Amino acid sequence: MRLLTHQDSVDVPSRVKQLTTSRLFGENPLIETIESQTIKRIIVKIAETMREQKDYLSRLDAAIGDGDHGVSMVRGFNEAELRLNKLEDNRIGPILKYVGITLTSTIGGATGPLFGSIFLKAGQAAGEKEKINLEDLAQMFQASLDGVVSLGKAQVGEKTLVDALSPATESLKKSVKRKKSLLAALEDAVLESKKGAESTRDIAAAKGRATYLGERAVGHIDSGAMSVYFILKSFYDVVKT
Ligand code: ADP
Ligand code: MG
Repeated sequence: MRLLTHQDSVDVPSRVKQLTTSRLFGENPLIETIESQTIKRIIVKIAETMREQKDYLSRLDAAIGDGDHGVSMVRGFNEAELRLNKLEDNRIGPILKYVGITLTSTIGGATGPLFGSIFLKAGQAAGEKEKINLEDLAQMFQASLDGVVSLGKAQVGEKTLVDALSPATESLKKSVKRKKSLLAALEDAVLESKKGAESTRDIAAAKGRATYLGERAVGHIDSGAMSVYFILKSFYDVVKT
């Protein structure tokens, strides 16, 4: 038997060290940045999720709107997925801006520009970067939220997608301050957006078609807020794997 020397501990393979650290902290410390290839995979995953949730989202919209939300989201993200396949650019800004422009033009109506601006503004905030960290991500979400609010003028509590996007943004900003890991921060943001989307069930609408229903909109979840949750959930699922 041989006693371990200082030299032996230096030789421990780095993978083993990382595993030990990740067990200690209960999360994966390796994921601290997201690269442009991951961003592209996230868009593909969002498109997949929208296809799975199409009928559910349209049913939500049918209760208090015109019933086209699922179909609109699928149309937009299918086209974004298709166009991204041909995009060679590795800068996150241009990738997201391209998605934003595609959503705006293929979804159309009032919601096309709203969902489009989420990606467009996030892209503007990311700029030329080819990878982003949690702080970048929080800034990108803030830019998206500001974009949606300046377009649609909706505040939290008016039964729109803002009710899901705003708490997710706040959660990410809080996680930056608390120096949380990227994955833990994303997980919190997903939960906050889900809570936010579900909170729209209990209120009447002050923006969008559902305002025509007045109090009759109470008891139904807003489809756009639910879509924001599905977007965040897809984001988290890709980063996690
Ligand atoms: P449309 O109302 O044109 O049929 P969709 O059914 O695709 O569009 O989407 C409706 C969603 O758009 C609503 O569920 C709501 O979340 C969102 N929305 C509507 N108006 C606004 C607004 N002014 N600001 C933010 N989001 C809005
Ligand atoms: Mg609709």
